[in-house]
Amino acid sequence: MTLEGKAAVITGSTSGIGLGLARAFAQAGADVMLNGFGDPALIAKLCAELAATGSRVRHHGADLTKPAEVTALIRQAEAAFGTVDILINNAGLQHVAPVDEFPLENWSEIQDVVLNASFHTTQAALPGMKRRDWGRIINLVSAHGLVASPFKSAYVAAKHGLVGLTKTVALEVAETGITCNAICPGYVLTPLVENQIEAQAKAHNLPRDRVIRDVILAAQPTKRFVEIGEVAALALFLCGESARSITGAALPIDGGWTAR
Ligand code: NAD
Repeated sequence: MTLEGKAAVITGSTSGIGLGLARAFAQAGADVMLNGFGDPALIAKLCAELAATGSRVRHHGADLTKPAEVTALIRQAEAAFGTVDILINNAGLQHVAPVDEFPLENWSEIQDVVLNASFHTTQAALPGMKRRDWGRIINLVSAHGLVASPFKSAYVAAKHGLVGLTKTVALEVAETGITCNAICPGYVLTPLVENQIEAQAKAHNLPRDRVIRDVILAAQPTKRFVEIGEVAALALFLCGESARSITGAALPIDGGWTAR
């Protein structure tokens, strides 16, 4: 598929799934605005690597917990590329603790990055999409947007909320050329999951492969990680014309996790 002439903003794209999406979208011909934290020299290298596809690639370091910076991210992409046709709300983070001990600052940060920033980006990008009568909004949710796990109250609540936002936006723009969908992956091996593997290995004094098999992939029937490339392929499909009737959907790509 070609996305030539389209411009994409992908939040949290300096690492993991977001970076994989950015590579795939640049490869498909889209101009890409990267966002996320990281070493400036490494980010400059990433921009150069992606720009070698021929696409225009920029980075905006908006801290997504700050609404004014989120709006600036969208405005800067519009200034650089002329439009924002594709918005992927991908940034996220995890904190694991029992609900009665969950630190308020971790709760708030997760709501801000996962749910509130997605509202702010959508609000900023929608008017331009409506003017052009074309747009794709993809919210990178999680199987945890559909089912819960203990000790992940903030993440599960924010991701369920993001599914709700997805459905509402889809209904509001249903008669336009804009679609809004949620992708709900199971476990993907990224720095976010590496941190959880490390913490569980330490907490239970278990080797890494036992943690992966018995803890992390326990709920994932295929017993293998979802690949970043598989998530990117689904996102690209949603941006094509044959996906124009798919809207308001929360699509699992979870190795059967939510089939139980
Ligand atoms: P990751 O930790 O590799 O990447 C997270 C990205 O978000 C980074 O670029 C980071 O800089 C950025 N980020 C975090 N806080 C930010 C802030 N305040 N402002 C700007 N950027 C910020 O994580 P990942 O595993 O690639 O996760 C990407 C998305 O996919 C998340 O929304 C996550 O919840 C979701 N997801 C991940 C998995 C998985 O197993 N890895 C499964 C389902 C859903």
